[in-house]
Amino acid sequence: MTTETFEFQVEARQLLQLMIHSVYSNKDVFLRELVSNASDALDKLRLEKLRDDSLDADVSDLHIEIDVDKDARTLTVRDNGIGMSYDEVGQLIGTIANSGTARFLKELREAQDGAGAEGLIGQFGVGFYSGFMVADEVTLLTRRAGESQGTRWTSRGESTYTLDKVEDAPQGTSVTLHLKPADPENQLHDYTSPWTIREIVKRYSDFITWPIRMVPEKGDGEDAPEPETLNSMKALWARSRYEVSDDEYHELYKHISHDWREPLETIRLQAEGTFEYQALLFVPSHAPHDLFTRDFKRGVQLYVKRVFIMDDCEALLPPYLRFVKGVVDAQDLSLNVSREILQQDRHIRMMQRRLTKKVLSTVKEIKTKDADRYATFWREFGTVLKEGLVTDSENRDAILAVASFATTHAEDEPTTLAQYVERMKDGQEDIYYITGESRQSIENSPHMEAFRDKGIEVLLLTDAVDEVWVDAVGEYEGKKLRSVAKGEIDLDGEKDEKAGGEREKQAEEYAGLLGWMREQLDEDIKEVRLSARLTVSPACVVSDAHDLTPALENMYRAMGQEVPRTKRILELNPGHPLVKNLNQAYQEREDRSGLVESAELLHTLAVLAEGGQPKDPARFVKLVADRLERTL
Ligand code: ADP
Repeated sequence: MTTETFEFQVEARQLLQLMIHSVYSNKDVFLRELVSNASDALDKLRLEKLRDDSLDADVSDLHIEIDVDKDARTLTVRDNGIGMSYDEVGQLIGTIANSGTARFLKELREAQDGAGAEGLIGQFGVGFYSGFMVADEVTLLTRRAGESQGTRWTSRGESTYTLDKVEDAPQGTSVTLHLKPADPENQLHDYTSPWTIREIVKRYSDFITWPIRMVPEKGDGEDAPEPETLNSMKALWARSRYEVSDDEYHELYKHISHDWREPLETIRLQAEGTFEYQALLFVPSHAPHDLFTRDFKRGVQLYVKRVFIMDDCEALLPPYLRFVKGVVDAQDLSLNVSREILQQDRHIRMMQRRLTKKVLSTVKEIKTKDADRYATFWREFGTVLKEGLVTDSENRDAILAVASFATTHAEDEPTTLAQYVERMKDGQEDIYYITGESRQSIENSPHMEAFRDKGIEVLLLTDAVDEVWVDAVGEYEGKKLRSVAKGEIDLDGEKDEKAGGEREKQAEEYAGLLGWMREQLDEDIKEVRLSARLTVSPACVVSDAHDLTPALENMYRAMGQEVPRTKRILELNPGHPLVKNLNQAYQEREDRSGLVESAELLHTLAVLAEGGQPKDPARFVKLVADRLERTL
C-alpha cells in the first residue's frame, strides 16, 4: 500500500508544537481526552445502528480498551465504535475545525509568553492532540463501521502526517502513543504502569457509560490474564449526591463541555412520578466566546434510560439558559426520539419548565449565599439571562429577583430592583433608568442633569437587550420603569405651585422661539419645548414615552427590518445663557435667517451629547469652525 504524506494545516501545526513543548503540569488529562473521544465514538455507533439496522457493524460488545507495553513504551487506547473513513481522518485529525480550538490558538498568539500559553491549555480542551504532551509519535488506526477498508494515520507531531490505506483494520479506532522517555524523577506519571493508568481512569473517566478495560501484561508462562474493567460506569446523575464527589461531577462537566475549567455550579434534579427523569446541569464559570453567535450550539445531552441519545438537545432549556451544560436522562422516552418530536412533546415541555425553574432558583441561592460567586455569574451570564425578561413572562419575577444593574448609586456595585426601590426618595414614584453604549457616555448625558442635581438614583443600562426588556417588563412592584430620556420629566413635581407659576411665565416668553425652531428643524424634530431635566446643558433630545429609541431603531435595522425614522423632541434649558440669548435675538430681529444655523447647531449639540452622530458631520464641522473663527 502506498503511504501518502500530508502537511498539517497551519493552526494544527501550532497546536502540535505547543503540545510537544508543553510543560503543562497536568499531562494526565491526555488520557481523559482519548477516552472521551472513544466514548463519543461508541455513542455514535450505537445510535447509527439504532437508526439503520442494516449497518454492517458489530455492536454486541462496545467497549474501550487500554493496553500498555512496558518494553515498547507504548500506550494504546482502542474502541470498537464508529471509526473514521480515510477522508474523515484527513479532515478531523489533520485540521482544526473545532471553533473552541481555533479560539484557543488566537488567544495563544496573543498571550505571547510561555506561562500564559500553559494557562490556556488548562482552559481549552485540545482533544486528540494532547497525546503529544506525552508521546513523540502517535499512530491512529481506524475503520469506519460499515466500510471494509481502514486507515492508518501517523505523525511525530512535526509538520507532516502520513496516511495509509489498511486492508485488515478492526472496526473502530485505536490510538497508539509512543511515549517519550521515562522521567525517573516522576514515577507517578509513568504511563506504562497499570497502576498509574488505573488511577487516571478512575479519576477522570469513571462515569463513562462504556466499560474501559485494561489487559494486564502477561507474565512468562502464564495464561492470558482476564481484562479488568477500570470504571464503575455508574451514571453520576442517577446516584445519590452523597456518593459522588465534587471532583467527579467536575470531570463529567469537562467531558461534556470541552471546557477544562471547573464549573461555577452543579445542579442536580431527580424527578419521580409518572414521568421520571434525572438531570445533572452545570453553570460554567466563564461565558463561551460564541454565546451570542447564531450558530452557538446550545442544549444539554439527552439520555434515555442511561443510553446516550443526542448532544445539544435544545428543547430542554429555553434559549436564555443556553450557557447551561449537562445531562438529562429520561426514563420514559423512546430511544428513537427525534428533535422534531421533542419540540412538540408535552412531557418535554414540562421538563423544560421544571429545569428552568430549578436553574433560576439555584442562581437565587448563589446570590443569597455567596456574593462573589453571584458577581461572577452575573458578569458572565447576566446579559443572556436578561433575554428571558423578554421571552419568558412566566419566570420574569424569578429573573428580576436575580438580576442586578449598574447604578449611579455606587461606582462598582450593581443593584437589584428591590434595593433600588428601598432607596427611593419620598415622593419618587418611578424607577429611573438610562440606556446607552457605555457607563461613561450615559452617566454624563444631559438627560441625567436634574437627577444628579436632586440625588435621584438612575440605573445605567448598557446591554443591547436592556432597550427591549425595560419595555417588556414595564414595572416592578407597581413602580413604573421610566427612561430619563423619554417623555416629560418634572422632578419638582407639578404640585409645586411656585415652580408651576414660574414655568407658565417662561412658556409665554419662549412660545415664539419654540414654534419657530420646530419649523426650522422639521425634518428631525416633532416638538421643541422647555426642559425641566437640564441644569447645565443648553439642550437635549428626548423621545416620546412610546417611541423607539435611536438604539432600538438601529437594532431593528441591523436585523433587516424596516423602521420609519422617529422624529424626536428637542428640549431647551431656559436657564442657559445660550438659550436666553437665542430667545432675545429671536424677539429682537425681524430677519431671522441668521438664526437658522444657530438652531441647527443647538440641535446637533444635543444629539452629540447623548452619544449620537451629526446627520452631516462635515457641515457641522464647518459651521462650528466658522463660528470659532469669528470669536478669535
Ligand atoms: P474534539 O473531540 O474536541 O472534537 P479531537 O481533536 O479530540 O477534537 O477530535 C477531532 C474529531 O476526530 C472528533 O470530533 C471525532 O469526530 C474524531 N475522532 C477523534 N477520536 C475518535 C475516535 N476514537 N473515533 C472516532 N472518531 C474520532
